[in-house]
Amino acid sequence: MEKSVTVKINMTPDAALSRPVTVLPGVGKKRAEALARLGVFTVGDLLDLFPHTYTDMGNVTPISVTEDGEVYTVKAKLISDVTCKRTGKKGKMTLFRFLVSDGTAEMSVSFFNRTFLAEKLKQGQTWLFRGKISHVGFFREMLSPITEPVDCRPLLPVYPLTEGLTQNMMRSMMSLAVDRYSSFVSGVFGREIASEFRLPDIDRAYRSIHFPDTEQESVLARKRLITEELVCLRAGIELSRRRNLRKGAEKLDCGRYEEKIISTLPFALTGAQRRVIDECCADMNRDVAMARLVQGDVGSGKTAVAAVLICAAAACGCQSALMAPTEILANQHYANLMPLFEKNGVTAALLTGSTKSPERKRILEGLARGDIDVCIGTHALIQKNVDFLRLGLAVTDEQHRFGVEQRSALSGKGKNPHVLVMSATPIPRSMALILYGDLDVSVIDELPAGRKKISSFLVDSSYHDRMYRYLHDEVAAGGQAYVVCPLAAPSEESSDMPSAEEYSAQLRERYFPDISVGYIHGKMSGAEKDRIMREFSDNKISVLVCTTVVEVGVDVPNATVMIVENGERFGLSQLHQLRGRVGRGSRKSYCFVVSDSEGAKQRLKDFCSTSDGFEISRMDLENRGPGDFFGSRQHGLPDLKLASLTDMNSLTLSGQIAAKIFEKKDWQLLPENSRLVARSREMFAALN
Ligand code: ADP
Ligand code: MG
Repeated sequence: MEKSVTVKINMTPDAALSRPVTVLPGVGKKRAEALARLGVFTVGDLLDLFPHTYTDMGNVTPISVTEDGEVYTVKAKLISDVTCKRTGKKGKMTLFRFLVSDGTAEMSVSFFNRTFLAEKLKQGQTWLFRGKISHVGFFREMLSPITEPVDCRPLLPVYPLTEGLTQNMMRSMMSLAVDRYSSFVSGVFGREIASEFRLPDIDRAYRSIHFPDTEQESVLARKRLITEELVCLRAGIELSRRRNLRKGAEKLDCGRYEEKIISTLPFALTGAQRRVIDECCADMNRDVAMARLVQGDVGSGKTAVAAVLICAAAACGCQSALMAPTEILANQHYANLMPLFEKNGVTAALLTGSTKSPERKRILEGLARGDIDVCIGTHALIQKNVDFLRLGLAVTDEQHRFGVEQRSALSGKGKNPHVLVMSATPIPRSMALILYGDLDVSVIDELPAGRKKISSFLVDSSYHDRMYRYLHDEVAAGGQAYVVCPLAAPSEESSDMPSAEEYSAQLRERYFPDISVGYIHGKMSGAEKDRIMREFSDNKISVLVCTTVVEVGVDVPNATVMIVENGERFGLSQLHQLRGRVGRGSRKSYCFVVSDSEGAKQRLKDFCSTSDGFEISRMDLENRGPGDFFGSRQHGLPDLKLASLTDMNSLTLSGQIAAKIFEKKDWQLLPENSRLVARSREMFAALN
């Protein structure tokens, strides 16, 4: 004991926490090796190994009121000796058995092989037993219960284990570590902020997360530690934002040309589109680069916003780039925006993986010489040999489909161009701030006038005949339809699910001999996809059987029916994107989600009953978590230990605390924030 006191006095907190686990009494080489397998090397690492749950030994239930098959903690006295019997194959197991009573009823307890424990149990002693109880008539029994002395903690932490470690070993090591070292831990924010937001102090939080007296205490401790993590995350984002902000950019007076360009559009902009264009023009008229996310539900008209800004940038003498995640989408943007560009004297080019060599060469030269004002394309735009003479505006469409690096690769094509990213994946605002915290956010919260609500139905496969009859009528009336199926080509998976190709053949033969049915999937060549999309958009194909290649962005206003087969295979946000392919014109549109899955029924029903993209993404996040939602690591954020990006309460709380910290001038230089800055650097360093 003396020794550890001197240690405390002489050591800085960091040095104390970075001592190896072997400084803890009873932790030798063997245990240290086992701990290393859990990623624990230092005392600090050990304290950061949080229990994933607790065993409740505090809530004792009288044996007489227990119910068959439920788990209880019972406090009872041994009323018999412990008997022991060899069992199992070749008698390799030992069965220990004894009777206990708590005064309300008797119970038999048995367990296998725990000789060490069995030797401690003596008739007349009282112990706590926790496990599942079985009732057989009046006979009650617990098999292999957790067995603890009556003075044990009310909530026993349960840790991840590895070979060579037991819960008891972990608990005793942790208890030593908490006693001796938790006072060295410092938080990323101080006592004042903690008490303002009713969070426990950091050392208290560490003690309580490992050894809480009540559940409430453990919940509060966890809240503090989650908040720590999220505040670090926000600090890291804020620091990168500051770095980016300092970047000087070319000031573009786009506002001067705005009205004139808008007057050349074939429709009147919505108020929300105008507001967002204004916000962007204001940003671009400063000598720091714009970094703005335009978020708008499917069909809200983000492309028009980008197009106006591109024309304005061209009027200011700057080039623009517009990057889309798929060739189909890039082609479509190019085709749709061409008339507007022509009216405004803007020269445009299309660069994708399918652009053939002579054309490609011409485009690259045009971009480098500055003859081309805007280049629309796919990932092909960020390849090495693409150079712009004077890139002033870099736009990324469907930003959630790109990684953070790709986004910055595009802006790397110029000297700090203004950056606009667009996303239709509507995510809750507090989460947008975390994910896109380095960006300003504009929301297009209004759909163009005259859009009719899309009616959505969940049906099972017995409904096919009726659905096809309906489809037939709709096509006869001039409409068009998409049918989405999960597989592209045959035999991609050995399953009974038809591929897009097979499905379209069936439709043609069995149901629609008189209707033109086509199919498209991601494995086709760019030129072929392009041809088919063009035929569909010219209404030469009436029913397009497709995979999710049409998921993002595709715009054929005459399409009024969307059928999604095997709906259970898709995330709700993805379904929302798919549904967004219809309802783009003035005709009433319908979406049918076909699924025979019982498990997905509720989820799909919920989807059909709402058209609010934000609500849908919230449901999606709850169902699947952010990892799936954004594709693994797509969001480019560090891994979080405790916090979850779906926990809105914690996100909001951390936002309030972060705002409080960031409001002080040069907060990142203040000594009180040195730990915050250091920890957030560590967190983001792990990403690279
Ligand atoms: P998204 O936001 O999903 O990318 P788009 O930009 O593809 O939406 O626009 C969807 C459709 O609405 C397109 O056909 C587009 O021409 C049309 N559109 C956009 N803005 C308006 C508007 N203000 N009024 C009428 N139609 C519009
Ligand atoms: Mg779009």
